[in-house]
Amino acid sequence: MPLTTPHSATPEDCLAALDAGLDGLSGAEAAHRLSVHGPNRLPESAGRGPLLRFLTQFHNILIYVLLGAATVTAFLQHWVDTGVILAVVVANAVIGFIQEGKAEAAMAAIRNMLAPHAAVLRDGVRVTVDGADLVPGDLVLLEAGDKVPADLRLLEARGLAAQEAVLTGESVPVDKAVAAVAADAALGDRRSMLWSGTLVTQGTARGLVVATAGRTEIGRIGKLLADVEQLTTPLVTQMDHFARWLSFLILLLSALLLAYGYFVGQHPFGTLFMTVVGVAVAAIPEGLPAVMSITLAIGVQAMARRNAIVRRLPAIEAIGSVSVICTDKTGTLTRNEMVVAAVETLEGRFAVSGEGYAPQGAISPPGDLSPLARAAALCNDAHLVCRDGDWIVEGDPMEGALLAFAGKVLGGHRPASHRLDAIPFDSRHRFMAVLSDGPTGRLVHVKGAPERVLGMCADIDHGHWHMCAEAMASQGLRVLALAERPETQGTIDPTSLEGGLRFLGLVGLIDPPRPEAIAAVAECRAAGIRVKMITGDHAGTAAAIAAQIGLENPNRVLTGRDLERLDDAQLALEVAGVDVFARTSPEHKLRLVTALQANGLSVAMTGDGVNDAPALKRADAGIAMGRNGSEAAKEAADLVLADDNFASIAAAVREGRTVYDNLKKVISWTLPTNAGEAMVVTLALLVGLALPVTAVQILWINLTTSVTLGLALAFEPTEAGTMARPPRLRSAPLLSGTLVWHVVLVALLFCGATFSIFSYALDRGYPLALAQTMAMNMIVVLEIFHLFFIRNIHGTSLTWKAVRGTRVVWIVIAIITVAQFAVTYLAPLQMLLGTRPVPLLDGLLIIAVGVCFFAVIEIEKQIRLGLRR
Ligand code: ATP
Repeated sequence: MPLTTPHSATPEDCLAALDAGLDGLSGAEAAHRLSVHGPNRLPESAGRGPLLRFLTQFHNILIYVLLGAATVTAFLQHWVDTGVILAVVVANAVIGFIQEGKAEAAMAAIRNMLAPHAAVLRDGVRVTVDGADLVPGDLVLLEAGDKVPADLRLLEARGLAAQEAVLTGESVPVDKAVAAVAADAALGDRRSMLWSGTLVTQGTARGLVVATAGRTEIGRIGKLLADVEQLTTPLVTQMDHFARWLSFLILLLSALLLAYGYFVGQHPFGTLFMTVVGVAVAAIPEGLPAVMSITLAIGVQAMARRNAIVRRLPAIEAIGSVSVICTDKTGTLTRNEMVVAAVETLEGRFAVSGEGYAPQGAISPPGDLSPLARAAALCNDAHLVCRDGDWIVEGDPMEGALLAFAGKVLGGHRPASHRLDAIPFDSRHRFMAVLSDGPTGRLVHVKGAPERVLGMCADIDHGHWHMCAEAMASQGLRVLALAERPETQGTIDPTSLEGGLRFLGLVGLIDPPRPEAIAAVAECRAAGIRVKMITGDHAGTAAAIAAQIGLENPNRVLTGRDLERLDDAQLALEVAGVDVFARTSPEHKLRLVTALQANGLSVAMTGDGVNDAPALKRADAGIAMGRNGSEAAKEAADLVLADDNFASIAAAVREGRTVYDNLKKVISWTLPTNAGEAMVVTLALLVGLALPVTAVQILWINLTTSVTLGLALAFEPTEAGTMARPPRLRSAPLLSGTLVWHVVLVALLFCGATFSIFSYALDRGYPLALAQTMAMNMIVVLEIFHLFFIRNIHGTSLTWKAVRGTRVVWIVIAIITVAQFAVTYLAPLQMLLGTRPVPLLDGLLIIAVGVCFFAVIEIEKQIRLGLRR
């Protein structure tokens, strides 16, 4: 049976064994085989079960401390305290469990959005299908940059090489060819095969699917292609470490406090121990890691809604801090909906009319453009299909536009011909050549960048035609030159092209800028981000489009050749002021990223081709195109744009800044709140005062507020003015001087307010329990006001929008209010927490103190922001 070793069988035998033809399967046959073989998907990793996931929530140093405290309190028979501590632990675990589940689901959904597609022949027509729909017997078409979607036996290979590191560990691309190899060849030596999960690095291929899903080599070794992503970023890791150190510090201080209270303060050990536990629990930011992960997960989802798919989480932070965005032109700033508008041949200049890709329209003045149109149609890999009256392109839009143009000239039909050989387009040599047998004989047709193709043509006025190309380009048209040459051989000899071509004409294509890209460029400029265009297109075209898009400096253009003349130091000097780079190749992108980074800038770079991968990896935020990008670019990128649109990059920056702000808000709310609570109790112990709040009350506050109020900040929408601020410095420390000052200020104000209410109550002759109840409510009220303050750290909190809050904010405030009323006024809870009902007027007084606290910190913020301006 040949199919056990397809690599050693001839292509014909493989086709026969799989009952397949050179036109591919029929749609019905493919559907039938899909029902027999199942979808072409690798089995998912089993993952952790729910029980294990729940248990790992307890695997955390902060939780160990709490569990230790619960054990000791139980030993001391302080059952209420034990219960509350355990409730804190369980509540944390449950919330962590639920949110982690949601976050994992969100990441999985995003991975599915990146599911690969494959170009196949079905019924003789090229169509794009989901990689999962491939079946044995399908004919797959591949080009450089594609990921191989199944195990394939090659039927055709041109200049083909594949990177098979996932499978063989060999990082150098392996050359591939159609010829059968020995049956016992090792996997890496089976040159006639392409393996699922590997990457095509160069050339084109046509392959027969011989194995799908778990029956592929990669499926057999059970290796997973997508690594499981950890929900973390540099900032979160940094905070994790910080939280750990903080816990040790808190434990140490608690031990000292215990020693001091027992030996110096002479407090009875039982209550003292409970109080110290209360302090420790109050100070430990146990909810922080969970809330930060949730903030990230929400950010990932928000970005996905804006068409920016996060492949690596640290990119969320990186994209929020970029100061330069280097972007492609075609399809990103422009629509990539091309149409041929002007043609110039030896006979003169022609205008072409017609909308979209419909092969109908007029040429004026009338003339014989058929040699040019034939070249445009034959030197072409795209297909036009009419669906519900709309003409759409399968393949490159520019080639689609050329087909439509050919249709207008030749009357709707692609000339009958047989392709014998081709040199595929490559952005480094900027032309494509096809050898075919047609009605006018055996011809090589070439199309490509004018400088390149004119250089291969003899017997023309080069100066004149270069000027024509310049003139077309300066109107923002993308210009191609077409040429041909009779051939007698069956293959194209690249050296025979140089100087041996007959020039046919120039074609100018319109590709209008996207209106939303113009708005997004303006938004980026307001946000202090410089936008630079890096294109393979002609300098004139690039400059014209740059002006239409609104780049800062569209008039200075550096070309790839200019770049090559500059050394790295000169380039770093030049690069800052130039916004348009034309006729660049992918290697230049890498140099540009490096040069910009050398200037201390944080760079986002877009890319779509296989050769863009190094630049994407090097950039602070590498962005690949989801639609027209190669799989190689997507794998190298941190972010993938689902719609290839520049506006989505601006949206991602905005979301990135929002996530960072929210992470900072979560931290800025949690740390001072915890410090304030802890300071109140510590101070009382040190000074020898009665405790303003009991241990169990402080545990209660922690239980209810950290998982509600703190969590609300993860859902904060973008603050007004977020895109009017200059980019944050990547080197800026998280625990900035301002944050440390804020922690100290708020902790002091917490202490002041709580002690004031407490002593006011005692002065009025209230029983200690009532005074403590008031102090506890005071802390909660302060936390709520602090939340409102933190929501607008960059602006004022005194606008109607700020006061109105968000739904999430009001939901958590409602929960906390109900909880506080319950423990203050419901008898059974009063028994548990040792509380007393607070008189109405005193309740209002507590709120009034909260308002004063808010006023003080808001005024302080306004002074601080005013000074900075
Ligand atoms: P952008 O950065 O705007 O997306 P690009 O990446 O499309 O530019 P390339 O694809 O490198 O630029 O193309 C560079 C030049 O090569 C084009 O201006 C055009 O002249 C020529 N060219 C592009 N595609 C083809 C093709 N399929 N066949 C022949 N020539 C092409």
